[in-house]
Amino acid sequence: MSANPHDFYAPADWAKIYEETKRHETPSLVVHLGIIERKYREFCKLFPYSKCHYAVKANPAPEVVSLLRDLGSNFDVASVYELDLLLSLGVDPSRISFGNTIKKARDIQYAYEKGVRLFATDSLPDVDNLAKYAPGSDIFIRLLAEGSDTADWPLSRKFGCHPDMVVKEAITARDKGLNPRGISFHVGSQQHDIGTWSASLVKVSYIFDTLLEHGIKFDLINMGGGLPAKYISKTNPIDVYAEEITKYLKESFGDSHPDIIFEPGRSMVGDAGVLTTEVALVSWKSDTELDRWVYIDAGIFNGLIETVNESIKYPIYCEGAGEDETKFTVAGPTCDSMDIMYEWYKVPLPADLAAGDRMYWMTAGAYTASYASVCFNGFPPIKTYFVKD
Ligand SMILES: *Cc1c(COP(=O)(O)O)cnc(C)c1O
Repeated sequence: MSANPHDFYAPADWAKIYEETKRHETPSLVVHLGIIERKYREFCKLFPYSKCHYAVKANPAPEVVSLLRDLGSNFDVASVYELDLLLSLGVDPSRISFGNTIKKARDIQYAYEKGVRLFATDSLPDVDNLAKYAPGSDIFIRLLAEGSDTADWPLSRKFGCHPDMVVKEAITARDKGLNPRGISFHVGSQQHDIGTWSASLVKVSYIFDTLLEHGIKFDLINMGGGLPAKYISKTNPIDVYAEEITKYLKESFGDSHPDIIFEPGRSMVGDAGVLTTEVALVSWKSDTELDRWVYIDAGIFNGLIETVNESIKYPIYCEGAGEDETKFTVAGPTCDSMDIMYEWYKVPLPADLAAGDRMYWMTAGAYTASYASVCFNGFPPIKTYFVKD
C-alpha cells in the first residue's frame, strides 16, 4: 500500500497542506508551521530541564527560524552563513551556539565579533583557534559517539574525539583562557536505539570524574539530535525517548544533573513538511518485467538526498491509491545513474500511475529543501511554501 496521509497527519493538518500543494508547481515543499509550533511545545514539556538549540541546517527557512525565535528557542549553527541568517532575523547571539567542530579561524573570529560565546570543538588545533579568536568563550567538547548501526543517518566518524582527547582538550582550553564547560555528543540522526544515549552518558560521567582530578568541573551536557521523525521504519514515540533518556541521566548524574542542551533538527521539523513531486515517466525495461520504473521531478540532487543508500524511507502517497497496486523502482530526473531513490525497497504505488500524476513525499520537512544541490543538471532548487492554522 502506498502510505495513507492520515497515518502521518491529523486530518485538519493534512487538509491544509494538501490544499496548499494545489497552488504550486512541482517539485515544492509545503511546511505546516503549526506542526512545528506543537513539536516545539512538546519538546519543552518532555525535556523541561533542557535548553533547545534548534539545529538550523535541518530547515533554515526564515519562516521556521522566526517561529522558533518567537517561541523562545535557542539555535545551533553550522556556519557563519547560518549565523548571519539568525542575526538578520533578530536572534540575539546569546541564544546561538556554533556547533560545527570544523570551522576556519576567521569564521571563529567573525562569530565572536558578532557576539557568539558558545562553541563546539573536537580537536586541539580548533581549541588553539578558539583560544586565539574567541578568548574566554564557553566551549563544549564533542565526544565520539556510537550508534551508527542503528541510526538511519549516522553522524559518526567525522565528528567527535576519544575520551582521552576530550580530557586533553579541556585542560588545554582551560590553560589557554577558555571556559571548558562540558561535553556534547550526537548518537546519529533518526536513532532507533534509545540505549545509545545511555552508552554516551556513561562515558560522559567518567570524563566528568576524570576532569575533577585536574581541577576542572564540567557543568554542561549537550545531547545533540537523533530524536525521531515519523517515516516508514517505525521508532518509539518521542515521549518514550524522553522517559528513557531522563532515566539514564538520573542513573549517571543523580537529581542534580548538569545543565542540559538538546539540538533537535529532524524531530522538530521533519513531520511538518510534504514534498510534492510529479511523475515524468513510467516505464519498464523488458516485456517480461513485472515491476515498473517511475521517474519523478525530484531526486537525489534536488531534495531527496537522504534516500542515498535508501537510508530514509519517506511515506509516499499518490492520489487514487487503492486496491490495484504494483511495485515500483523510484528514480529522479537527472542524467546521473546514482539518481535512484528506491531500488531494493520496491515502493507499492497505483498500477495505473502515469506521467503528470502527483506523488506526495510525507515527513519531508527536514533535510530536503536545504540539502538540494543547486541547479544540478539545470533542475532548479526546491521552493518552499508555508501554511498556518
Ligand atoms: C545535524 C545536527 C543536529 C541535528 O540532528 P537531528 O538528528 O536532525 O536532530 C544536532 N547537532 C549537531 C551538531 C548536528 O550537526
